[in-house]
Amino acid sequence: MMDKDRVKRLVREMIAEIGEDPTREGLLDTPGRIADMYEEIFSGYDAESELSVKFSEDSDVIVAKDIQFYSMCEHHMLPFFGKIHIAYSPDGKVFGISKLVRLVEKYTKRLQIQERITKNIADELHSEGVKGVVVIIEGEHFCMKMRGVKNDAKMTTVAYRGIYEKKEYRPDILAMIHKSSSETKIV
Ligand SMILES: [Zn+2]
Repeated sequence: MMDKDRVKRLVREMIAEIGEDPTREGLLDTPGRIADMYEEIFSGYDAESELSVKFSEDSDVIVAKDIQFYSMCEHHMLPFFGKIHIAYSPDGKVFGISKLVRLVEKYTKRLQIQERITKNIADELHSEGVKGVVVIIEGEHFCMKMRGVKNDAKMTTVAYRGIYEKKEYRPDILAMIHKSSSETKIV
């Protein structure tokens, strides 16, 4: 649990170090707002994914596309955001879509890097006894846009688990993911 009074004190100090006056009117409530915001955007550390809740269902492949995410890069504490596509081959039981969204929030609402989020989601789903998982993340990073190389490039990361570690199983599931996604092209 976050000590919000401590966060407020530290933000006030940071504002002063930036060269601002933390007591001027516009900045007075800023430390409190940031403390509240951090509690929300870093809530992944206390989150449960609830993947143990499953339905019996017969389906070869399930695809959850375009799950919106927002995260904070651990190198610069700047936002990165984008879309997550999750596809899996169930072993008789399927997850509700809300549980997949909760899983995404568990791993994105932290200090993170995109590559690790991709692995975290794939590993947790795979550990729930599915035959195979593909996770694709397309992300845009503010630490690339507004500092350093100042480039708008999007980054795509992919993780394969279970049967999809074998290349011959991938074409069908990737085709399903691509079907209505205009930008992703993974081979
Ligand atoms: Zn960064």
